[in-house]
Amino acid sequence: MNLMQNKNLILWIEALFAVLSVWVLLMVEAYPDHSMFLLRLYVLVLICITIVLVGVVRYFQGQHSAVDIDRICEMVRQVETPAFIWSDDLSTLYTNEAMDELLGIDEREDPGDTAVLLGNFFHSIGISPHDAAEELSEDIYESAIECRNGARRTISWTTSLLKKTPQASLYFSIGFETTELEDAKFKLMKKAEDLTRSQRRYQLSMKLSGIGILLCESTKPVYYASDEAQQFLGIDTDHITFAEFRKKLHPDDRFLFDEYLENIRSTRPNSLSSRPRFLQLRISSGADKHYVWYSYHYHENLLNQSGKPIIGGALIDITTEKNKDAMIEKLAFMDEITEIANRNKLMHDGEETYRLCQTMGTYCWVIVIDIDRFHIINDSYGYENGDKILKNVAHVLCKYTASGGFAARVSADNFVLVLHDYTVNGDDEMPVRTLEHIRADLTSMSAGDFSSINLTCSAGFARIPSDGHSFHEVLEHAEFALAMGRGELSYIMGYDANMHEEIVHQGEMEKQLFYAIEQHHLQLYYQPKVDLKTKKIMGAEALIRWIKPDGTMISPNVFIPIAEKTGMISDISQFVLREAVQQTALWQQMGLSPIVMSINFASGDFYQANVCEVVQSVLVRHGLQPQYLELELTERLALGDINYTVQQMNALRDMGILLAMDDFGTGYSSLSYIQLLPLTLLKLDRSFIIEIETDRVAQEICSAVIKIAKSMDIETIAEGVEYEGQSEILKNMGCDYIQGYLYGKPMTASAFQKRLEINTYGREL
Ligand code: C2E
Ligand code: MG
Ligand code: MG
Repeated sequence: MNLMQNKNLILWIEALFAVLSVWVLLMVEAYPDHSMFLLRLYVLVLICITIVLVGVVRYFQGQHSAVDIDRICEMVRQVETPAFIWSDDLSTLYTNEAMDELLGIDEREDPGDTAVLLGNFFHSIGISPHDAAEELSEDIYESAIECRNGARRTISWTTSLLKKTPQASLYFSIGFETTELEDAKFKLMKKAEDLTRSQRRYQLSMKLSGIGILLCESTKPVYYASDEAQQFLGIDTDHITFAEFRKKLHPDDRFLFDEYLENIRSTRPNSLSSRPRFLQLRISSGADKHYVWYSYHYHENLLNQSGKPIIGGALIDITTEKNKDAMIEKLAFMDEITEIANRNKLMHDGEETYRLCQTMGTYCWVIVIDIDRFHIINDSYGYENGDKILKNVAHVLCKYTASGGFAARVSADNFVLVLHDYTVNGDDEMPVRTLEHIRADLTSMSAGDFSSINLTCSAGFARIPSDGHSFHEVLEHAEFALAMGRGELSYIMGYDANMHEEIVHQGEMEKQLFYAIEQHHLQLYYQPKVDLKTKKIMGAEALIRWIKPDGTMISPNVFIPIAEKTGMISDISQFVLREAVQQTALWQQMGLSPIVMSINFASGDFYQANVCEVVQSVLVRHGLQPQYLELELTERLALGDINYTVQQMNALRDMGILLAMDDFGTGYSSLSYIQLLPLTLLKLDRSFIIEIETDRVAQEICSAVIKIAKSMDIETIAEGVEYEGQSEILKNMGCDYIQGYLYGKPMTASAFQKRLEINTYGREL
């Protein structure tokens, strides 16, 4: 407004100047004599006016350019947003309509003093009028203004210097309404705060509930992991590949996980299940392999934006529940001595393993392990040490389950090892290789606490799923393979379907044996028994042979078990008893040194109620004194029914017949049981004798058995002596007799007779 007033003043001066020029011209016309004076007066007036004008113009130019200000004023007028031109001495103010509205200036009213107006305005936006120029021109200045109607408006001011003079500077300020922007910003901030708050709440509840979240798309092999899940897994990123995740699982749970992956890979959008599923997995968060049990409850009824199935769920620590389960399981499924799985657990987990192998197309080995001669170790070193050894064996076996599998103890010294075979086609060498390692471990184990025990084991194995239709069947086949070794030491055999053919073959044998008995193709051979002190034959063992018409000889090891199974054994035994007694009596009648004739008794014979009568009648018929007849029983046979055995044996002993325990050390008896039996002789099994020169355990066992037998008045004989060295050791141990190839193989009656003749007539053997 001041600016316009100044401009009008100049116009007035210019009009005055024109009127004055016209008046001078008229006066010169009217008074030509005074024209000179008039002209001089006119020039003088002109000069004065010019001086005044120049002064006025100078004055205004000192503050602004009249042309610029005009243009800017015009611009300001047209701008719709509040704008004003002002001087920092608060003397000048030009506003547009929007600014007037902001300042509350009504067109009809006098705006009042410029300095007051500007001063109030600057105060209202929080600036001191003196610092207004400095504050506003520095940067965009944001102000919150309360309008007359009470509404709050946010306006950002931009200010630029138009003109600077020594007296004052002229500024142009324009304001941009940012009220809506601010509102939006405020709302956004509030939303962000809400979000952060709810996120914090979510994180806190996740933390408190101890739930981790794992999500994946069925097509991508990567899990997204929540903070909690990251903590469970021991990772510091929000994703983990399936391969990395699998590595963190307990080896026994990887199969389950593989099965789960197989399932989710085949998940299609139209085959999503609404049922939640769950997996129980052991996960290790670090390299220390400390596993924690988690339950993963997952859903697959989710789709992402592009319609692909998302599989996700909650990972929950279930260690406490598992510990409770473990306690219950321990009672029902754990072997007390070794603290590994018992038979129940083996069958349960075995069936599960079988199912998984079938689903996944993978393999497992079932290895049945038997500790060789364990009962002897038990007898010699006591049950406490026996238990200690079993624990150590279990410990050794568990070592081999680390990369997948489990171990179980199923009976006294019988263990089962189930091993996962991760190779594509199955690693056929795996069982034998593992067993060799186990044997080496057993050797070094006995070298520690039990230095005098040479622990060995035998094993049979079969493969899941190819060697049976169920775990039960595979296990049976592995046991079957072990049984094929018939007590042989350090025996390892894999199951082979042909083994059954062998059984079929036995059926064929049965028929042939029946025929052989009828046709008298069975014949007795005699093997000398020698007194270690005199080196003279003191007895013979009658050993049966099946000689076919074509001359082939079949071992009793082959046909006696068949005869026992079919009942033909009683015919065979009667034949042996008759033949052996008759032959012994005959040799005595011939004047040869009397010998003790041993015959092998089978369980069928022994458990016959009239066994004493039968033996008695044969002795009487052939005129042989009972002290020349010795019956050999095996441990298994003798201990079938211990009370009956004792009763029956006492009856035979009362008759004066000698009783020997055959194959001592291979059966199931213990020395404490043997004490109950009225034995006259213990026959140390050939398996000890084979090793007696090299194996300290065999030596110690033989020595201990001989000593104990002596203390019970039982004589001892060693079977299978083939070398002088063995004979020497046995003699030094105090063994009474020996039997073996060293002094003669089983031979025909005529061959034996010759040996007996030499024996009788004083020549040393
Ligand atoms: P056994 O009663 O322990 O007989 C000893 C076996 O060891 C015999 O085998 C004998 O030939 C063998 N043997 C003896 N000394 C040596 C040696 O130095 N080296 C080697 N390698 N072997 C030696 P055989 O005759 O084949 O008899 C095997 C088994 O068959 C017998 O073991 C016995 O259990 C059974 N058996 C034999 N004859 C009869 C019988 O008449 N009735 C019954 N029920 N079983 C019999
Ligand atoms: Mg025998
Ligand atoms: Mg024997």
